[in-house]
Amino acid sequence: MKSMKVFVTHGLFGDYVARLGEHFEVVVWPKRDISKTDLIHEVAGVDGILPLLTEKIDREVMEAAGENLKVIANYAVGYDNIDVVEATKRGIVVTNTPGILTEAVGEHAIALMLSLTRRIVEGDRFVRAGKYKGWEPDLLVGSGVRGKVLGIIGLGRIGRWTGRIACALGMKVVYNSRTRDEEFEEEHNATYHTIEKLLEMADVVSLNVPLTEQTKGMIGERELAAMKKSALLINTARGAVVNEKALIEALRRGEIAGAGLDVFDDESHPNEDLYKLPNVVLTPHIASATIEARMMMTKIATESLEAVLKGRMPDQIVNKEVWEKRRK
Ligand code: NAP
Repeated sequence: MKSMKVFVTHGLFGDYVARLGEHFEVVVWPKRDISKTDLIHEVAGVDGILPLLTEKIDREVMEAAGENLKVIANYAVGYDNIDVVEATKRGIVVTNTPGILTEAVGEHAIALMLSLTRRIVEGDRFVRAGKYKGWEPDLLVGSGVRGKVLGIIGLGRIGRWTGRIACALGMKVVYNSRTRDEEFEEEHNATYHTIEKLLEMADVVSLNVPLTEQTKGMIGERELAAMKKSALLINTARGAVVNEKALIEALRRGEIAGAGLDVFDDESHPNEDLYKLPNVVLTPHIASATIEARMMMTKIATESLEAVLKGRMPDQIVNKEVWEKRRK
């Protein structure tokens, strides 16, 4: 008889969730989305929750789960969907899945950049519309990236990987981050600047910060106006890091040349004004969607959840300070 219960909010890759079922009573939500009401109902009495980044795990959900809840194993690197302060107060361990999707997200940031500079999406639409009638010297002319400046805001795991690829493409990397990384500077001939200076210098700006109180809306009207008219903004971080209305206005007015966005302010319904802009490339939050990354995300989330429920400290723990005072 399995004594502990686990709720998984979505079907996941691989057989890792099935393996959890060997140790715990596991319920997997069978549909695509789960409403707050259903979530509150399903978590009652569980010992562990494995949510997606689209599910808000706040005080109300923790309260509904009750005293048994010991671990929330988020299926993402970012954990802005979880009230970590509240979890810590309650002795609940929060885990995430960093590191294993770094390359996937870095590749995607570069893919968005190249889609814009080489007009890949426009070209695809052009051919499919039957407009291609033969080679022309001035057809959909883009620009090369060699010698251009990539400005990375948030030089963490993903920022560094994005920088590495950019260097291989012959770009010059400048960055701003909370902490300076002199090793990266030396290795990649990169330079550290204030955000203001970076925005002035960069031909492409890549956002790679987590969403926090400090980074929310960090790219707004003023910052967009400070960018070059020819510059591109790439956001694979979180939608709310950018003031989306200000971005749409800047794109409309030609204050910047384009944007590549994988994340949106409202993830369940992106602002449709973006759809009308020719100078944006939009992807549906798929930066980490490689089979390799998704498998590893499932492995790490389920292993972390199992570790906590069996009394072992997992490697990927967001609120380490809770460990000694955690619920058992
Ligand atoms: P990370 O290693 O923690 O890197 C984040 C970097 O941002 C760190 O270097 C951090 O500085 C810096 N930072 C934090 N606050 C800052 C601020 N106010 N100003 C400047 N820099 C700041 O995280 P990661 O693994 O690279 O992931 C970054 C983010 O990408 C995640 O939080 C998540 O939101 C997003 N993400 C998106 C996808 C997707 O599918 N689109 C997938 C994975 C992750 P310190 O070094 O001082 O902490």
